[in-house]
Amino acid sequence: MHHMTLAEIARGLADKQFSSEELTKVLLARIAQLDPQLNSFISLTEELALNQAAAADARRAKGESGALLGAPIAHKDLFCTQGIRTSCGSKMLDNFKAPYDATVVAKLAAAGAVTLGKTNMDEFAMGSANESSYYGAVKNPWNLEHVPGGSSGGSAAAVAARLLPAATATDTGGSIRQPAAFTNLTGLKPTYGRVSRWGMIAYASSLDQGGPLARTAEDCAILLQGMAGFDPNDSTSIDEPVPDYSANLNGSLQGLRIGVPKEYFSAGLDPRIAELIHDSVKTLEKLGAVVKQISLPNMQHAIPAYYVIAPAEASSNLSRFDGVRFGHRCENPENLMDLYKRSRGEGFGVEVQRRIMVGAYALSAGYYDAYYLKAQKIRRLVKNDFMAAFNEVDVILGPTTPNPAWKLGAKDSDPVAAYLEDVYTITANLAGLPGLSMPAGFVDGLPVGVQLLAPYFQEGRLLNVAHQYQLHTDWHTRTPTGF
Ligand code: GLN
Repeated sequence: MHHMTLAEIARGLADKQFSSEELTKVLLARIAQLDPQLNSFISLTEELALNQAAAADARRAKGESGALLGAPIAHKDLFCTQGIRTSCGSKMLDNFKAPYDATVVAKLAAAGAVTLGKTNMDEFAMGSANESSYYGAVKNPWNLEHVPGGSSGGSAAAVAARLLPAATATDTGGSIRQPAAFTNLTGLKPTYGRVSRWGMIAYASSLDQGGPLARTAEDCAILLQGMAGFDPNDSTSIDEPVPDYSANLNGSLQGLRIGVPKEYFSAGLDPRIAELIHDSVKTLEKLGAVVKQISLPNMQHAIPAYYVIAPAEASSNLSRFDGVRFGHRCENPENLMDLYKRSRGEGFGVEVQRRIMVGAYALSAGYYDAYYLKAQKIRRLVKNDFMAAFNEVDVILGPTTPNPAWKLGAKDSDPVAAYLEDVYTITANLAGLPGLSMPAGFVDGLPVGVQLLAPYFQEGRLLNVAHQYQLHTDWHTRTPTGF
């Protein structure tokens, strides 16, 4: 039962082959048995799950239907869940029970999804390896000595290990696409503004976007359908109609113009990954796509710009965690300054502290123009590159990451080495564009992802291309040994 995708579960529930309650029990037992190896959950919500499953079964018995009605999922632990711990992977929020549900959580619950728990993540979504979590590192089911990627590493490891079919995640600089690539999943970062950020604990507000992590494009379409849409509670949410993503997966790729940026194939890319990317291009050509080389000349400036903008926004967003308004409070403070200093010093881990310092520095009076303003100008240039490219092509294709998943601890002493691994993903966040990563093969037994980018609000196009690719390849069906 645990091998089923969301689409298969929906059919099984509709045909009464099993109930949501039966499926939920199977998956909860599987999590109890296997998750100790992975550490992919911070909290389990068994009681809620069983109640939601029973309610979904009752709704189906009354004749209701829907692809998510009774479907088991989990939420990355930065989506607020009413009455349930929402830790953001931090000691700062270890005892925080959200007083309300995030819009994404409420929408999925209304559609009948069953929440099995809250997944592990890098602290405040800062990281690419899920090693900065207060609750410990997450292991990659493909090789337990390797990282699953981050910051949505818990959602990725759990779905890859078949503990559940799909999970929510968020992507500020790659945190949906990169863990998808590292664990052989399909993950979609929607257009900025497509999915509500209300109740999603902020890291960098102008970059953060929630989206689905699943095994197939078909399942990403189902989960995105439940997440997307205008939300008056989020001032950056965009009032655009949500297309029927599942109904549009079967479009032909005949004549689809794929752009492959020449800058992607630089010295930093593992040549074995480059090979697999070329293979995926060939597959798409066979399906009718036309491939063309393009250029994104400002790509090289994206990492430095991102690592000014994201920490700057983080330093501002995280100022609310001061031990007074929100978050961990130290014991016996001597005065107000001591309370702030010790509460924040104890509550935040090293990576979060590093970024708060970098961000506060970049925003400070003497340096604002030199760093923050400059980074914003680069951001516009990155966006302009994409706008020019999308005049010529329908999608942009390349690797999701320059290397496969590294070993746990391998980048501990060199944070910049980890930042450089974001080179292919962060440009989409800087520009606000949608991006998808899908399985494209293996290197040393570790999964490799191919990334597709599209113009604003063309999530449907990405899902269509990925679905057609998955009908003609079987990388996405491979299962890690032992799971
Ligand atoms: N690795 C990037 C960072 O640490 C992206 C993280 C994310 O997308 N949340 O900022």
